[in-house]
Parts: sequence; structure tokens; C-alpha cells
Amino acid sequence: MTKIVIVLYPDPESGYPPRYARDVVPTIPSYPNGQTAPTPAAIDFIPGELLGSVSGGLGLVDWLRGLGHEVVVTSDKEGPDSELDKHLPDADVVISQPFWPAYLTPERIERATRLKLAITAGIGSDHVDLRTAIDRRITVAEVTYSNSISVAEHTVMQVLALVRDYLPQHQIVRDGGWNIADAVQRSYDLEGLDVGVFAAGRIGRAVLERLAPFAVKLHYTDRYRLPEDVEARLGLIWHESIVDLVPHVDVLTVHAPLTEETEGLIDDALLAKFRRGSYIVNPARGAIADRDAIVRALESGRLAGYAGDVWFPQPAPADHPWRTMPHHGMTPHTSGTSLSAQARYAAGTREILEAFLAGKPIRSEYLIVDGGDYAGTGAHSYKTR
Ligand code: NAD
Repeated sequence: MTKIVIVLYPDPESGYPPRYARDVVPTIPSYPNGQTAPTPAAIDFIPGELLGSVSGGLGLVDWLRGLGHEVVVTSDKEGPDSELDKHLPDADVVISQPFWPAYLTPERIERATRLKLAITAGIGSDHVDLRTAIDRRITVAEVTYSNSISVAEHTVMQVLALVRDYLPQHQIVRDGGWNIADAVQRSYDLEGLDVGVFAAGRIGRAVLERLAPFAVKLHYTDRYRLPEDVEARLGLIWHESIVDLVPHVDVLTVHAPLTEETEGLIDDALLAKFRRGSYIVNPARGAIADRDAIVRALESGRLAGYAGDVWFPQPAPADHPWRTMPHHGMTPHTSGTSLSAQARYAAGTREILEAFLAGKPIRSEYLIVDGGDYAGTGAHSYKTR
């Protein structure tokens, strides 16, 4: 018997299941690079259902219990007396989502003496201390590509919302107002602006592809250069590093993983190199930006707007300054957990579990850490130099 601890966000306050707005979500068989979408032997949910909250259980609970495994599903993850901490010492597998991460710190991993597999139901495994996972030979896997396009769409939405200043205009309508001059005093067109993408992996490249039709000038930087034909087709201007990139752009979108190299990268010194009135959209990880430097840059006008959906820590405390800073368009961490995305990452989590329980290899593109080192996507995207 395997013990599987699943940490998920709480159910809707209005009750579970919610009243769904739509009846179906499209089936996406494969991703833009040809990788197939998850292929579990079966699924026990209807795509489009809310799976990421406790009652949804990622659609895994009946299946796993039916096989005789012990399953704990909880949203109680903070502090030493939490349900997560109570069950860690004999957990074989821990599953959590970045939106409501079970932070697997070195101390927690030390107490999880039976832990063999940490699955991220989604993308982004920085909530697991990867160095300790390597030392303990714990496998860390995530459902690569499952919500990359979801995040790219959210990014484009937030770029437009910031540049056109959508959110205050919508608020004027809700408040019964009609002062057009108030509404447009910070509103610009995206057309003709320079847009820079920091890290052109699955999400960053999808953002470039989606923004190209807006007649912007596209720039990017990454550790790896995109193929020449892609650069030519999209008219991309390559920069050696983020430091070289930012003086040339009006909008920066951020899509690198959180690593030792990227943590705190967007600080006062880097922000001083931005054009006055720049915008940042960061749906990668909150800790890539220096929290207070972002607030200062918005207050000084160096930045005209900041958006994204990632914070540190998560959930963000009620007094987190990004909730109240000027000209922001933040959402809670939702971009990768649309109901459409949940269907894919729940199926991918099941695919990973099916392989693990059968003693078969997990798809290499899902691997971040395996066999005592970075592996698969982890070796490409997380391993620092
Ligand atoms: P990916 O692995 O396809 O791409 C990551 C890219 O970052 C790679 O091209 C890599 O070369 C580049 N990179 C890594 N370190 C770098 C550095 N120091 N400098 C320059 N480039 C660097 O991953 P992806 O699917 O595009 O996701 C990217 C990140 O987005 C994830 O790691 C995760 O943190 C975040 N994410 C957020 C959400 C959300 O819901 N907000 C959902 C999915 C992913």
C-alpha cells in the first residue's frame, strides 16, 4: 500500500460543485511542440469540472482508494500542526499545486523519511527544495506543458489590461461614472511598443507568438536561443541577458523558473535601467521580483504598471503590499488553473502516478529531479550554471 498526500486549495465558499458556466471544454490532443497531452489509462472526472479544490481531489481519490492505497486530501498545510505535517512522516507521495503550494522545505523533507515522489499538479516545482530532493534521491515531477498556453493567454490579457488601463475604466463603469478624461489619462495602444520576453520556453514562446499580430516590436532573452526560422518569422530581436534587454523595451513579461539565478533578479538596480513608464507582467514566480522594489518603482513612475498572478509567499498575506500598490493588475495565482487547464494537469498527474505505481518510467519531459540529479525538463530549465 502506498500513502499519497494530496494538498489542494479549499473548496469554493459558495459550495462544491459550483454551477458551471459552460458544459464542455475542448480536448487538446497535443501541444505546439508536438508533445502529446497526458495519456493516462483512464480518467474518473468530466473535463471542465473543478478538480483542484479538496472535493475535486484531482479526480484521483476513488481510483487510488479502489486500488487499496491510503489517500489524504487536505488544504491544511501551514505550521507544524497542519494535516500535511501530521501525514508527512509516512507519506510515499506528496502532490500539490503551485497555486496553493505545499512548501517542501529541507526540514519537512527530512521528516518525510518514506517520501519517494513529489508531484506538482501543474508546472513549477520551486516549492520543493530541489537540492534536498536530489540529495535524498526523491523524484520530482510536474505536468510539463499542461497549463503553459493558459498562462500565455493570461499574460496577453494582463499586458493589454495594463497598457490600455482597462481595470480603472471598468471600475468607473461599476461606480456609475462617465468621466472620459479620467478614464483615458493613462491609456495607450500596444501597437508600436517594444515588448520583451524574459525566458522563451513553452510559455514565453507562446506569448511571443500571440503578441506578434499586435504589430509590436518583439525582443527576448533566454539561456537558449530560439531557432533562426522562428526568430525571422516573428521578427525577434535577441539580447544576451535581461540586463541588456530591459533598456530596449516598454513591456517586460517574465517566464523563467525560480532558481538561484532568477530569485530577486528584478531589483532596484535592474528597474533603474527600464524606460520610464514601463510595464511588467510576471506570471512566473513572485520571488523573481524584489517585492518592495516593485512598489517603489510604481510609486516613482519608473513602472507604469505591474501585473501577474504569482506572489511570495502563497497565499499572499492580507497586508501584502502588492494588494494595494498603485497601478497593479494582480490576480491570485489563477492563470494556470483555469478549468480547462485542470483537466490536463489532473490527467497528467494520474499518468505520472500510474507509471510510478507500476514501477514504469515517468515520461522524461515530466521529470525535474530523478535518480539524484536534475533530469528531463529539470536538466534543461532548472539546472543552474
Ligand atoms: P519551460 O521549462 O518551457 O521554460 C523555461 C525557460 O526558462 C527555458 O527556456 C529556460 O532556458 C529559461 N531559463 C531558465 N533559467 C533562465 C535564466 N537564468 N535566464 C534566462 N532564461 C532562463 O517552462 P514554462 O512552461 O515556460 O514555464 C516557465 C515558468 O512559469 C515555470 O517554471 C513556472 O515557474 C511558471 N509557471 C507559472 C504558472 C502560473 O500559473 N502562473 C503556470 C505554469 C508555469
